[in-house]
Amino acid sequence: MRVLVVGAGFGGIAAAIELRTHGITDVTIVEAGPGIGGTWAYNTYPGAACDVPSHLYSFSFAQRRNWSRLCSPQPEILEYLKGVAREYDVDGLVVPDTRIVEARRDDTTGPWTATTDDGRTFTADVLIVATGQLNTPVTPDVPGQGSFDGVQFHSARWDHERDLRGRRVAVVGTGASAVQFVPEIAQEVAHLAVFQRTGNWFLPRRNRPFPGWWKAAIRYVPGLQRWRRRFITEYTESLTLMIRHPSTLGRIGRLWSTLFMRMQVRDPELRRRIWPDYTFGCKRILFSSHYLPALSRPNVSLSTEKVTEIVPEGVRTADGTTHKVDTIIWGTGFAARDFMFPMEIVGPGDRKLSDEWAGGPHAHLGMTVPGFPSLFVLYGPNTNTSGGSIILYLEAQTRYLREALQRMTSRGAEAIEVRRDVEAASDAQVQARFPGTAWTACDSWYRDEGGRIVTNWPGYMREYLDRTKTVDADEYVFHR
Ligand code: NAP
Repeated sequence: MRVLVVGAGFGGIAAAIELRTHGITDVTIVEAGPGIGGTWAYNTYPGAACDVPSHLYSFSFAQRRNWSRLCSPQPEILEYLKGVAREYDVDGLVVPDTRIVEARRDDTTGPWTATTDDGRTFTADVLIVATGQLNTPVTPDVPGQGSFDGVQFHSARWDHERDLRGRRVAVVGTGASAVQFVPEIAQEVAHLAVFQRTGNWFLPRRNRPFPGWWKAAIRYVPGLQRWRRRFITEYTESLTLMIRHPSTLGRIGRLWSTLFMRMQVRDPELRRRIWPDYTFGCKRILFSSHYLPALSRPNVSLSTEKVTEIVPEGVRTADGTTHKVDTIIWGTGFAARDFMFPMEIVGPGDRKLSDEWAGGPHAHLGMTVPGFPSLFVLYGPNTNTSGGSIILYLEAQTRYLREALQRMTSRGAEAIEVRRDVEAASDAQVQARFPGTAWTACDSWYRDEGGRIVTNWPGYMREYLDRTKTVDADEYVFHR
């Protein structure tokens, strides 16, 4: 069985390890970038770090006991992933600088043929798309962008050549990325103008280096690491609990966040402007003890006016003000709802996945799509978590797809395809769990144009792990 994995981030590496350790050895990983890392190779902005503690934001089978902090910085996470890939001997499977633009399967029984942007092709029986939800940076279409005299870049493509010391910098967007880099660059720029469209709910995260005694305890006290991972798991599940029950337990989260934010921002006018106007947990809760204090610095300003135009000398807002800057950083997020697009996936009968998903993406357990035999999506529709660790989901998915492939082989089949009625029913079940939760209480990148939540899992991590523990062969058609 030949397996082609697209993407060498956490998902792609996890898939390769799972398959190889279970005897499925013909695995190729194609990666658009220069090497292993995925989002952790692209997002190199100052202050980049996970906001899920590393004891959980790491593979269960490759636990590390020497993390430097609660939430490790990007270089440490990247090194960890590369180290795991080396240890499990899958680093050599990666074909770098290879961007797939189309994957096509003409016959039900295969194979998949994937074509790169420079005309190379890869053929495989199984296609695993592990490109994640957050791979395509989005810069909003603000008029006049091309006219800007200075330097502009997106936070996920940080321009390290640009020395920000002494510069006048604009940051557009105040999401999870911006709140990490704003406090870092605020210390060195001459002036920082932050443009916020919507305020956010914050919870504390100081993320200081672990003291030596704690690192020693984690290393030497039996069971402490396991307990720590368990504790963090339950802590993050409690965030989902609050999101699922906004009018009861969600109020506790809101109170906690309110107290924290009031302590962080003393100035009533600044407080008014940063305050969120939506239900706690509807958008991603932001973890930072440094962002709000940075807004109070004398060299930092916060504008809540709409950015209407980019002019040669800076950013113009709806009130007619021109904010003179020499650098614009777009912290405006990703095309999360587009999933693996712009890659075109075409199944038997010339069926395009983009047509299948024209009304919003959906897949059985976020992984399998009817009409597309032997295609598996990792971190696909409705498998994002608002509080937990996506690594847990990825591990569950790779175990599940490995078992699916083993069942296919044991039945002498050449392809596996989810039944259309099964996928439709599981999608309906997922969607039925959203009403009444905080996720539905505002607009966010979790929802498509029609308001359907297409990125997030509606429940707890443990429910997803349970649901994917074993493959129900009756849910699939095995093609011979
Ligand atoms: P994001 O959460 O989508 O935030 C984008 C920001 O840009 C929002 O404040 C958004 O405002 C604003 N924005 C978008 N279009 C705009 C426009 N036309 N004018 C003004 N503002 C605009 O993106 P992100 O911060 O890159 O984070 C994306 C996701 O990546 C996170 O939710 C998280 O899942 C993940 N992430 C994780 C970590 C971590 O683990 N450490 C770090 C960074 C990111 P609105 O709120 O009004 O839409």
